Amino acid sequence: MSPARDETTPGVLLAHHLKQLKLPTVLREYDKVARECAQSGLDHPRYLLRLLELELIDRERRMVERRIRAARFPAVKSLDTFDFAAIPSLNKMLVLELARCGYILGRENVIALGNSGTGKTHIALALGLAACQKGFPVTFTTAASLVNQLLEARDERRLLRLQRELAAVKLLIVDELGYVPLSSTGAELLFEVFSQRYERGSTVVTSNLPFEDWTSVLGSERLTGALLDRLTHHVSILSLNGDSYRLKASRSRRGRAGGAEQTQASADTHDPETGEVLPT
Ligand code: ADP
Ligand code: MG
Repeated sequence: MSPARDETTPGVLLAHHLKQLKLPTVLREYDKVARECAQSGLDHPRYLLRLLELELIDRERRMVERRIRAARFPAVKSLDTFDFAAIPSLNKMLVLELARCGYILGRENVIALGNSGTGKTHIALALGLAACQKGFPVTFTTAASLVNQLLEARDERRLLRLQRELAAVKLLIVDELGYVPLSSTGAELLFEVFSQRYERGSTVVTSNLPFEDWTSVLGSERLTGALLDRLTHHVSILSLNGDSYRLKASRSRRGRAGGAEQTQASADTHDPETGEVLPT
């Protein structure tokens, strides 16, 4: 064996074994941490401890990232960027309590109601993120997209599999119930999802419609009653009624722009949800 091979073999083997054992942080850090420990006179159990702690911290971070990807959030938003002062109707203490995820352990639901642009999706995303960080598998979808997925799965004879997947996720977030009226089959499939999750997992629903108007989306009064019965048995209701944050934000941008208002008028666009004119 040549001296060169003698020197390289332990490093190469170590890299191989650490990869096999799925310890990427130990592999990346062992040399640097060894030098640090030698400098500060730490013995080998402490060296090993420091390395393994780094691996654990990294592993937790990787798992949170994986859960966030699996949740399919349209954007990652947290409560840190939510301005509670902008929406006084929202019970801040309740939201902070929900972010601790106790309701997921209790298999309870959350319903956020309010007009467009008041932060319902932001709050739902923030609760989803908090759940990912606490270790719960999360799925985010809109009511329209969920119903489409269910109809497609039914046509392709894989409805049962999708229903099982949806029933198994610890937190299912169904955003925007109410913007699109559902077909009667669509409404029944959605009802089945809520029904199968009843007391088995948590569901967060956001809607621009008060409960009394849900029939207009679900079609049948009987179905709406049965769905609300299950959804609201163990529930926290968040009320977000107020001015649209989007509109307020764009108005204050326009205010800052000052005299530019006139010249920008031709570039106005419409809020897709409310039809309100939004300056760009
Ligand atoms: P909704 O789902 O009720 O229509 P969104 O959650 O989509 O409203 O909010 C519209 C936009 O305004 C988003 O970009 C959101 O992050 C932001 N937003 C709404 N309310 C607040 C708030 N109170 N603090 C910070 N950002 C907000
Ligand atoms: Mg929304």
